Amino acid sequence: MTKLDMACRGCGERSVELFLDLGDQPHCNRLIPPALADQREPYYPLQVGFCTNCTLVQISYTVPKESMFSDYPYVSGTTKTLVQHFKDTAERLIATYGLKADDLVVDIGSNDGTWLSKYQPSGLRVLGIDPAANVVELALKNGVPTWARFFNETVADEIIAKEGAPKLVTAAGVFFHLEELHSVVRGVEKLIGDDGVFVVQAIYLGGMLDNLAFDQVYHEHLVYYTLKSIEALFALHGLEVFDARLVPIHGGSLEVHVARKGRRTVQQSVLAMREEEERKGYGAFETYQRFAENVWKLRDDLIGILDDYKARGKTVHAYGAPAKGATLLNSFGITTDRVQAAEEKNKMKVGYAMPGSRLPIIADEGGTRPDAYLVLAWNFFDEFVAKEGAYLEGGGEFIVPVPKLRIVNRSSLQAAE
Ligand SMILES: [Zn+2]
Repeated sequence: MTKLDMACRGCGERSVELFLDLGDQPHCNRLIPPALADQREPYYPLQVGFCTNCTLVQISYTVPKESMFSDYPYVSGTTKTLVQHFKDTAERLIATYGLKADDLVVDIGSNDGTWLSKYQPSGLRVLGIDPAANVVELALKNGVPTWARFFNETVADEIIAKEGAPKLVTAAGVFFHLEELHSVVRGVEKLIGDDGVFVVQAIYLGGMLDNLAFDQVYHEHLVYYTLKSIEALFALHGLEVFDARLVPIHGGSLEVHVARKGRRTVQQSVLAMREEEERKGYGAFETYQRFAENVWKLRDDLIGILDDYKARGKTVHAYGAPAKGATLLNSFGITTDRVQAAEEKNKMKVGYAMPGSRLPIIADEGGTRPDAYLVLAWNFFDEFVAKEGAYLEGGGEFIVPVPKLRIVNRSSLQAAE
């Protein structure tokens, strides 16, 4: 075993063992503008370790948060699946906690306000907190009150002073970004007080293990939670997980409901998930060693497929240019000689190149279609297939690396029917 030179981001012990070294990589969301095309961007280590004390999985190196989030190209309103997910979740939480008009909901890492906007039709007051100035502007334009700040204890005090105590505090897809994790949790503890509830959604490490979704690892994601490791983190701050479930977003996310310890009855869902995690070995280092072996086998198999397309003179484009795509391309050493471009519907990204691999990002509308697409945003693959019937009918193919490497084309779809 190789111990990483770091204190665990959860428990603080120096007991983090390396299991997956993805090498030095550039920041996955720092797209390269044409003017900087001939300069090499900064590279940082991307090493993943497991804490043998509290089981928290984490990366070793922290890219300074100011360089990552001040101008964030990811806008949550852009995918239909995500918008529907936020609407369903908001309605479920309103019903579960009996939220009424004028109750306050605070969302940490609120992005363009998509989630919060789903509470507004019920008359709830909402407040978003997000550090990225460009998406805060979008949120304000959408009528969602938002502060352009990093959330911490001080911000929690200001919220209580200006807006009162929230009934519900949420965080989705952000709770693994936070460099000042403990300050954030202390701030949340203050905000929810004795009666409020904190609901977190974060990519589920169990799902990553089951799906071999190593491409969820990138510099923004400092930590990767199981129920066990997130419970350990909250326990350090007098908080307790009393409800837990898995939700089918981002390829499998963990949702936990948290309150001050002893305020709510811990539900059967928590006990059941603890047992399931124990059974699957998520608390054992060997599970992570096996995961890493499978990642390198996937690399060899995928490179084999791409080289075969190249040998047959076929063009391959990436379908989408998500952050997780950068991890996959850069971990496996895939560049423009194997995949010629990335097609993207988010216009904010078009004209740039992907970091590291330097795949040029082109608009996904019109133009000549490639012989095949490498699917980087595999968690939205069903959505893509539904709208690409004509492309597949015309002989187009999808190479899907995760959760299981496969080629999807007209004949494979017919065989599946
Ligand atoms: Zn630890």
